[in-house]
Amino acid sequence: MADGQTSTQGRRTGGCLCGAVRFSAVPRLDTLGACHCGTCRRWSAGPFMCVECEGEVVFADTSALGVYRSSEWAERGFCTRCGTSLFYRLVDKPYYAVSAEAFDDREGFVFTTQVFIDEKPGYYAFANRTNDMTGAEVFAAVGAAASHDDGGKA
Ligand SMILES: [Zn+2]
Ligand SMILES: [Zn+2]
Repeated sequence: MADGQTSTQGRRTGGCLCGAVRFSAVPRLDTLGACHCGTCRRWSAGPFMCVECEGEVVFADTSALGVYRSSEWAERGFCTRCGTSLFYRLVDKPYYAVSAEAFDDREGFVFTTQVFIDEKPGYYAFANRTNDMTGAEVFAAVGAAASHDDGGKA
């Protein structure tokens, strides 16, 4: 939004595994990141690969959309029928990180960042060259309210 360094190519559609939840959003292509925090890993069965989106995520039908308040400042959306992890969003300011894998078209996504790298378990590591930040670095850079919650605090 205020940050001119990111790029987008318009609105894209996406949805969950079973198709009950469909949405459209405007992803910032160069914000694809992985969060290794304990909450994201437990919630998504691995590092949460997500893209920041501009403005609101628009849902075609919210009847199967579940929302779980995972911390004081954030909540997570998922499909109540098939369990697909869909998004992380802040409660009191406009910030949406949508699962990269929920989009129908991932063309142009650039994997730029890994956060909570200090919480990453030892059994995997990405070979991509990314900007890696510890949880403390994330909190220092953007403030607690804009970062993913960690397992201990959620
Ligand atoms: Zn579903
Ligand atoms: Zn996280």
